[in-house]
Amino acid sequence: MKITIASDHGGVELKSMLIATLSAGFGRTVLDFGPVSKDSCDYPDYALKVAMSISAHEADFGILICRSGIGMAMAANRFQGVRAAVCQTVDAAVTTRQHNGANVLCLGADVVSPAYAAEIVEAFISTPVDTSERHARRRAKLERAGRLSDVSGLAAEDPEIYATVLAQSRQEDTEINLIASENFTSRACREAAGSVLMNKYAEGYPGKRWYSGCIPVDSAETLAIERAKKLFGAEHANVQPHCGSAANMAVYFATIKPGETIMSMALDQGGHLSHGSPVNFSGKIYNIVPYTVDKATERLDYDALEKQALEVKPKILLAGASAYPRMIDFKRIREICDKAGCIMMVDMAHIAGLVAGGAHPSPVPYADFVTTTTHKTLGGPRGGMVLCKAKYAKALDSAVFPGMQGGPLENIIAAKAVCFKEWLGEAKRGYAQQVVKNCQVLCRTVQDRGYRIVSGGTDNHLFLVDVKYTKGVTGKDAAAALDAAGIVVNKNTIPYDTESPFKTSGIRVGTASVTTRGMREAEMIKIGTWIADVLDDVSNLSVQARVKREAGELALGFPAP
Ligand SMILES: *Cc1c(COP(=O)(O)O)cnc(C)c1O
Repeated sequence: MKITIASDHGGVELKSMLIATLSAGFGRTVLDFGPVSKDSCDYPDYALKVAMSISAHEADFGILICRSGIGMAMAANRFQGVRAAVCQTVDAAVTTRQHNGANVLCLGADVVSPAYAAEIVEAFISTPVDTSERHARRRAKLERAGRLSDVSGLAAEDPEIYATVLAQSRQEDTEINLIASENFTSRACREAAGSVLMNKYAEGYPGKRWYSGCIPVDSAETLAIERAKKLFGAEHANVQPHCGSAANMAVYFATIKPGETIMSMALDQGGHLSHGSPVNFSGKIYNIVPYTVDKATERLDYDALEKQALEVKPKILLAGASAYPRMIDFKRIREICDKAGCIMMVDMAHIAGLVAGGAHPSPVPYADFVTTTTHKTLGGPRGGMVLCKAKYAKALDSAVFPGMQGGPLENIIAAKAVCFKEWLGEAKRGYAQQVVKNCQVLCRTVQDRGYRIVSGGTDNHLFLVDVKYTKGVTGKDAAAALDAAGIVVNKNTIPYDTESPFKTSGIRVGTASVTTRGMREAEMIKIGTWIADVLDDVSNLSVQARVKREAGELALGFPAP
């Protein structure tokens, strides 16, 4: 058992005595964080040391002593994971351990005698935490309050912005989010993203910056790069692109000239704006030749793709999509690229988390370049990244900087590193498989109610419902009805759609967010049933009201991180 202890000048004597008593006990390591003298000092400085040791899980217990114990508790309780309690009796020490899982004991040197203080300490460190559901639930709420306490300074500084953050938080608490491109970041990710790393200008790359003072951000960016390479087995990683579109831009800039040809999936069939939409830079700068899915199967037809690539002879063949519910055969695409003599580029923005977790084959061994966002199934901060073969590293890096971006967002890069660590460790084990399982159960539930699913099902984290064919309503109206029922999806074109992109024939449904909340198959059956209930008659307001109530209750039971 490891115990950290500190005091202010008023608690030095009691501290020495307690250290002697504690050290006499078996198997206890006591770390004295000071002070040694009775000279006047500031209690927050010492509370901070003990609190940080608890936040970092470097000690099992902390003990803080001042005249009353109260200032110490105030200072320590500002740190995450710290539950500091002022105890004046043995009973209080026992109860706060059992119920609150207190891990820092604050004592008042003027309030308790040294002998009784020793009894309180013994009671505190020997009482186990009550693990019953009701107390565990309450302790979890203490931590989850961090969602609001982390931004509580805004309440006074900028009430209008504070209101928007509260509204977003409330929306996340009470709605079922099935937007396939969204997810919830961990608190650790949000902390890195909101950290002082945002204060630093760092044009260039680790070790080769234009400004001084880049040692801390160099470490953050190097960790992000190394973790990304390890996670995806990549030869080179550039973690600086501000978003997925910028990651794609970097690859185009690194490899081809304006006017040259990119073959990419048609936007209305699941491709992305940055793959050559006429309203996007990609469509304005390059010659875009779209490929489509097979009309009957609504899946990629690799033989047709090969034939087209051999005719078109593009400089880049780009695979990857925003709304394709099936696995992509990257090995086959590599063969096509080799035959057509073009660069193989994969945009895995949507499926990166499935790739990281082993629930979708990886494009990295095959592709020359792999781009991604870090905020979709990957579940990290909003941003982009490019992985590539070593021979393209230099061209890629100079395309990003100085080619198209200035200073990188080192706070976001740090948050990307946090996300990659979550994937490399235990935090996300099994997550990707559960996302796919949930998606298949949700899809089947809707399908069993008579709805036509594009391509007949799903292999990944999303599926498309053809609401036009099934119910004669547009995707726009279907999404609006579900929104009114507290279930958030988006309208989406489906292959060979006859509706405009503003109305569409389909909705896109994804399970990354609900899986992050801890929902599983049983919840998917409930949600699928609600979706069908609402879509059966999009004008039935009483069904929408009922579903909103029930869905809201379900959401509250699975708090977002
Ligand atoms: C989401 C997405 C992107 C880009 O996302 P940004 O909004 O620019 O971060 C790029 N490609 C695909 C396939 C996507 O789905």
